[in-house]
Amino acid sequence: MTSDIRVLVTGAAGQIAYSLLHSIAKGDVFGKDQPITLVMLDIEPMKVVLEGVVMELQDCALPLLRTVIATTKYNEAFDAIDVAILVGAMPRREGMERKDLLKANAKIFEGQGKALEEYAKKSVKVLVVGNPANTNCLIASKCAPSIPKKNFSCLTRLDQNRAQAQIASRVGVSCDSVCNVIIWGNHSSTQYPDVRHAKIRTSDGKVLPVPQVVNDDAWLNGAFIETVQKRGAAVIAARKLSSAMSAAKAICDHVRDWWFGNSVPSSCGDSGPFWTSMGVYSDGTKYGIPEGIIYSFPVVIKGGEWQIVEGLSIDDRSRTLMDKTAEELVGEREEASKHLGSS
Ligand code: NAD
Repeated sequence: MTSDIRVLVTGAAGQIAYSLLHSIAKGDVFGKDQPITLVMLDIEPMKVVLEGVVMELQDCALPLLRTVIATTKYNEAFDAIDVAILVGAMPRREGMERKDLLKANAKIFEGQGKALEEYAKKSVKVLVVGNPANTNCLIASKCAPSIPKKNFSCLTRLDQNRAQAQIASRVGVSCDSVCNVIIWGNHSSTQYPDVRHAKIRTSDGKVLPVPQVVNDDAWLNGAFIETVQKRGAAVIAARKLSSAMSAAKAICDHVRDWWFGNSVPSSCGDSGPFWTSMGVYSDGTKYGIPEGIIYSFPVVIKGGEWQIVEGLSIDDRSRTLMDKTAEELVGEREEASKHLGSS
């Protein structure tokens, strides 16, 4: 019999977790024959809410869900975990400056990085979702030096899914007919959604470059990019709450691909490489992106390990956009690192 894997979700009393926990527990992420111990962490004031979530999970009567642990303590939460999905973070409140947000979250992710270092398996895979996701991920990784950097990533799959859906809807095909969209950089409004290498399977079955099928460079270089960059804000404006259902779906996509690998979808031609976007550690050798930031790149995943896709051509316009989002991340790193060691 397959033994349980131990999966931690932080911010477990929040709205993303409410859409996410059920999908994990019913086998959508780690497979239909993988039993799960689900560990849920939130902060002390959310303890009662967390108890309610535990009751609901129990009431779902899910056969793969063997054990549920709800806690507010790091030693219990991070103990021997195989996967950490770090959703909980300090939200940006009205009037809060970006530097204050970076400061508050630097402290949280410093603490969680240290907890990973002390209690988690060294093979743990860590996905950071809580914003500012790239920089929070960097801090957690810095504070867990014995866990390899390749075990840390941040979520930009929601941005990729948004971009893919925009293209599919423009052309009138299903979302799975669009592949190889890239999100470069930060999960913020400076991100660069790039479709220059993306492909599409048209309704008559041909696989063609997206720019050729869309045939509207003004839209691709203007409204399309802006829509994806500002989609999170548009959802907040409409819902008065940030994206949760779509974020949970993207988390499942990201972790499933990381766990099982991403294979070429038949709907998008049979020839690879087929990639997905993940915020991962930049070692300074790929696409001229500075070393020591978590930057979203196109990656291929095999055997649980991602590799950045190399050799894609970068035009002048892309270069400028890729550098701009890298600069923002370097600035965030500097601001956040002022607050490390103070907790
Ligand atoms: P939410 O406010 O509904 O829930 C957040 C939960 O985290 C709350 O229950 C809160 O108590 C908890 N929390 C706060 N600090 C914590 C800590 N130190 N340890 C454990 N739990 C803690 O928010 P949400 O809508 O679920 O969003 C969570 C985060 O995800 C936010 O930072 C949001 O900006 C971010 N987000 C990221 C993406 C992405 O694509 N990367 C997309 C959507 C949302």
